[in-house]
Amino acid sequence: MKIDVLTLFPSMYRVLDESIIGKALQKGLFAVNVVNIRDYSLDKHKKVDDYPYGGGAGMVMMPGPLHDAIRAVDPEHRAVRIYLSPKGKRLDQKTVIELAGAERLLLVNGSYEGIDERVIQLDIDLELSIGDYVLTSGDYASLVLIDAVARYLPDVLGSESSTEEESFSAGLLEYPHYTRPREFEGLSVPEVLVNGNHQLIAAWRKAESERLTRERRPDLLER
Ligand code: SAM
Repeated sequence: MKIDVLTLFPSMYRVLDESIIGKALQKGLFAVNVVNIRDYSLDKHKKVDDYPYGGGAGMVMMPGPLHDAIRAVDPEHRAVRIYLSPKGKRLDQKTVIELAGAERLLLVNGSYEGIDERVIQLDIDLELSIGDYVLTSGDYASLVLIDAVARYLPDVLGSESSTEEESFSAGLLEYPHYTRPREFEGLSVPEVLVNGNHQLIAAWRKAESERLTRERRPDLLER
């Protein structure tokens, strides 16, 4: 998979050099191409924002540089073009898995009050929100999306971690985890996990998953 990212803050993506995602990028398991939207500004000061029609606080990202950047990076519209926006559809695991099946993604990041609506009309396939709160720029949301999608790409996760048995994979929250020591600050690891009976362990984990989901996310059970 190739992911093109259009941003005003290219250096924010340095964080992708770290951890499992950094290793996957190094191995060429997927690629991220970060593009500075200012490179497509025709203004001599590389301006990309302007005052909103109708007045009001804040600036709006002009359509020209964004439209040109999108058309330059994805001239044949091969990518799923996504605008990260608080007004978008809420990102969930189902959408993450669907997007992991795409050959290319193009992520458009807004700043200021957002982007000119006509870019959304002309160039965007999907608006995605990472939650009901407002961020200063789409880049934080893009980083979340890249991480979540990359975990579903072949070979990105080592054999020791898997997407098959974790929160949301079966529509439930995951069971609790424990490691050594067996006693910690007066708290013990549940007996069932140390007795070596795999059937009992599986039954305990299932019951704990259901209990946690019922307590914290009953909406998942309804779905
Ligand atoms: N004025 C906009 C509104 O009220 O809907 C918010 C603009 S926000 C300050 C600037 C940019 O951050 C947006 O253009 C969008 O790209 C991004 N952004 C903010 N919150 C987001 C969220 N919850 N999910 C995804 N992107 C978000």
